[in-house]
Amino acid sequence: MNCPHCASSITKEQMKQTFLGYRTFRCSACHRTFNERTGTPFNFLEYPTDVVLLVVL
Ligand SMILES: [Zn+2]
Repeated sequence: MNCPHCASSITKEQMKQTFLGYRTFRCSACHRTFNERTGTPFNFLEYPTDVVLLVVL
């Protein structure tokens, strides 16, 4: 899975999942994390979806 931040293909799947059960990944190039919700309305946000939801709620 390519990094949505820098488009690097060097990413690693994390053991951790979001509380919604989405797999999370860490980019080896820019060291940011992202999850498999790439392409959703949350994708433009810089923060993981679970953090965004915590803020919104
Ligand atoms: Zn990256």
